[in-house]
Parts: sequence; structure tokens; C-alpha cells
Amino acid sequence: MNVLSVTPEIFPLVKTGGLADVAGALPLALKAKGVAVRSLLPGYPVVMQGLGRKKAVLAYKDLFGGKAAVHAVVAGGLDLLVLEAPHLFDRVGGPYGDAAGHDWPDNWRRFAALSRAGADIAAGAVAGYAPDAVHAHDWQAAMTLAYMRYGRAAAVPSLITVHNLAFQGRFAASIFGDLGLPAAAMALDGVEYYGGVGFLKAGLQAAWAITTVSPTYAQEIRTPAFGMGLDGLINLRAADLYGIVNGIDVELWNPASDRHLAATYSAKTLKARAKNRAAVEGRFDLERDAGPLLCVVSRLTWQKGIDTLVSIVDQVVAAGARLAVLGSGDAGLEGALLAAAARHRGRVGAVIGYDEALSHLMQGGCDAIVIPSRFEPCGLTQLYGLRYGCVPMVARTGGLADTIIDANEAAVAAGVATGFQFAPDSGDALLHAVRRVVEAHAEPKIWSSIQSQGMKADLSWDRSAAKYVELYRRLLSRRVSQP
Ligand code: ADP
Repeated sequence: MNVLSVTPEIFPLVKTGGLADVAGALPLALKAKGVAVRSLLPGYPVVMQGLGRKKAVLAYKDLFGGKAAVHAVVAGGLDLLVLEAPHLFDRVGGPYGDAAGHDWPDNWRRFAALSRAGADIAAGAVAGYAPDAVHAHDWQAAMTLAYMRYGRAAAVPSLITVHNLAFQGRFAASIFGDLGLPAAAMALDGVEYYGGVGFLKAGLQAAWAITTVSPTYAQEIRTPAFGMGLDGLINLRAADLYGIVNGIDVELWNPASDRHLAATYSAKTLKARAKNRAAVEGRFDLERDAGPLLCVVSRLTWQKGIDTLVSIVDQVVAAGARLAVLGSGDAGLEGALLAAAARHRGRVGAVIGYDEALSHLMQGGCDAIVIPSRFEPCGLTQLYGLRYGCVPMVARTGGLADTIIDANEAAVAAGVATGFQFAPDSGDALLHAVRRVVEAHAEPKIWSSIQSQGMKADLSWDRSAAKYVELYRRLLSRRVSQP
């Protein structure tokens, strides 16, 4: 089976969040199950630099305002199709915006171009390549499915995965004329969305099936509280909606061989984590071995509930815990965390920025990772926490609720607890969880049993990849023959 994946990010080439990890790891897991995935992604500078020998398999004289080409390359075991379009992607900054964090004003054109290329490839534009199905990720790739539906690839089965419904790609109606879609597409059951154009909405409408990244989130997005305006449409499509929890790359995230750690370890040698803890204490200027060390590795945003944590940080310190935060995002939250670190020298530390290596070290050395999200489609950091014996403390929502077993008395007695859950969006609930962690941490037997239970969990892509294969098969069986 051949699947074309269309994605705006892919680890290790370009990553701003969990989507990149999924787009990079799922193809490798699918390969083992007989599914060959080719991933189409934009040729950002970081991607083009690492390409080496490239071969154009498709050329455009004019793709949304300039010359473009698709190159076939293999990198890190991934079979890539890179869309080189300098007028759209060759710029200094991030994948979606400039260095100051402002979205590129022509993002609609950039990701319509990616999607256009995806639909062309689905229709057979690359000689010798005919994907059996197309799998688009998030709003940036969603228009692929609209171009397929209104173009020459309507008979090719398609799937969209929603990694976060909060990002929808909404644009003014005035762009519609430049999208190159038939006039009929500007309709309620097409790309029209609240008077404008909605990329994700268009993809949800056109896709043969919809997945999101956990069963709980798949249910939550059917409600107004989590549906972000799309719950009506998602309910209409409920028969084609699936929740498949993400796996993690268990090679890359392996405490027994992780080169970012000061000391590697396994569930049998948890004591070795002390060296990593000392390294974290050094990086964050924290007092040594003085109470449980909690950490946060996160985008610093409202979604992630970082403001809830900030609101109780003084009580967290009073409860006897220490806190190390790595993240970047809202300037207000960054400032509040730096202020908390200044107020509680030695007890709270903050590093503002993105640091892959430090994120591994923190998982390998901290006692617990706090994830107070208001909503969380799947979440990866709690899974890394499980793998590293960095006990997850999670808000009971989305994928966090699906992947962590709360250390209540019954679960501890049965030896199945893997972390701590609390109600989302409540400082009191979070503080209560911190107190429970401080207590449990003081009982080494209980604590190490929670750690090792988490480390036993099967977090590999194997099971989830099997679910995707089953879904691709189901879609293929629905494939209508081309006229
Ligand atoms: P989201 O995709 O919503 O940001 P996830 O938990 O699904 O959240 O994925 C976040 C990914 O980004 C994880 O791999 C996490 O380790 C990583 N990450 C987030 N912030 C940072 C940071 N400041 N430095 C390093 N890695 C980070």
C-alpha cells in the first residue's frame, strides 16, 4: 500500500510541536507493516539545506506566484517529497511566521500551494507514483483534500488527522478567487467558513475519514466547549471520526541510550537519574536534592494552562517542591515565570527558549512533569515522562486522560498507577496534585513503583500504526473506480 502524507512539519527536519514527531515516526512504524509512506513537505531553508543530492520529480512554471519543483529525497529513513518554492518558503524565521512570531501574511498562499502539489501528486503528477490513499495533517495540509475533491483525485481515499483543532487556517473570503477552485466550492459544504475561507474546515468536509490523536479528544471535539466552532460539522461526520493515540519514537526517547543525558539508566537503575537531576539543578540554578523536582517542557500558552501553574507557584514552593520550566510562548507568561524564578531563587528556575537536548535531560532527571492543559489532543510530553520515569502530573482532558493512570489508593495498591490526574483549569486542583506528589515522593517504595509502572507502558507506534493500517484498508475498500 502506498500512502502520500502531506505535512507542514516532520521530525527531525523541522519541528514546532507534536505534529512533527508524529509525521516523522508514523511512516517508520507503517513501513514495518507493509505501508510505504512518502511525505510531502515545504522546502523551508532548514529542509533545503539538509537535502544533499536532489532530483526534481515535478516542476511548476507558476505555483501561486513563482517557479516551484518537487524533489524526491530519502533522509533518515524517510521517503520525502520536498516542495521547493523560494517565493513561498525561502525566508528567515519559523515555518509559519517571522522571528518575532508574527504569522506570514501569505500563509494561505503558502499552504494552498503545498496542498495543490499534494492533490496533483494524488492525481498522478509524479511519473510512476500513484498513492492508494492521501493522509493530510492539520490545516496547513487540509486543502489537499479540497483540491482532490474538486479536481482529478476525488476517487482517491483521503484521511485528515487533526492534531489541534485550535489552529484552523481561517482567511478572508477575498482569497477564494486565487485558490483556483471552482466557484461551487465556496459553499457551506465546501471551503466557506463563517463568511470566509476555512482550510481545516474544508479538509474536514472533504476527507473520507477524520482522525484525531486520542479517543477522549475525538469525543470532546463534538461538544461546543472543545469544538472551536467546528463541533457541528464534526458531529455530522461522526460516523467517519476516529481517535488514535500517538505513539512515541522509542529509540530516540530511550533513557538507556539517550546521548543528551548525563547518565543513562533503566527501570532497574533508577538511582542513576540522580546525575541527570544534578545536571538539571545546575542548569536551572536550583538547590540540590531538596524536595521533589517538578518540571514543565511546553509551549507557554493558555491552552497549556501555564497561567494556572503561575497562579499557584508560591504555594507549590511552600508545599516543598521545586520547579524547572523550559518553554517559550506568550510574553506575559514568560515574564511571570522569570519573575517567579527571581522571587524563589534556588526553588524555581526558568529557561525561556526551545532546547531539544535540555528537554531530554529534564525528562531524565526531574521527578515529575506537570501538564496542566485546558485541552490536549494527545500530548507527547507525558508519554516521554512515562518512558523516563519522570512521573506525569496531568490535567484530566484529551489524550492526557487516556494515557495516565491516576495514583489513587486502589491503583497504587494494585500496582497499576503511572501518574497523577487533576481537574483542568483549577489552581486548587493542581495544588492538591502537587501535595499528593510531595507525599508520594516521600515514600520511596510507592514512588519507584509508580515510576517503573510507567516505564513498562507500551508507548511504541506499533499498536497505533496498526490502527492506521486498519483505517487505510477500510478506506481503500470504499474506493470508487475512476470514471
Ligand atoms: P504541542 O504539539 O501542543 O506543543 P505536545 O506535547 O504534543 O504539545 O508536543 C510538544 C513537543 O515539543 C514535545 O516533543 C516537547 O518535548 C517539545 N517541546 C515543547 N516545548 C519545548 C521546548 N521549549 N524545548 C524543547 N522541546 C519542547
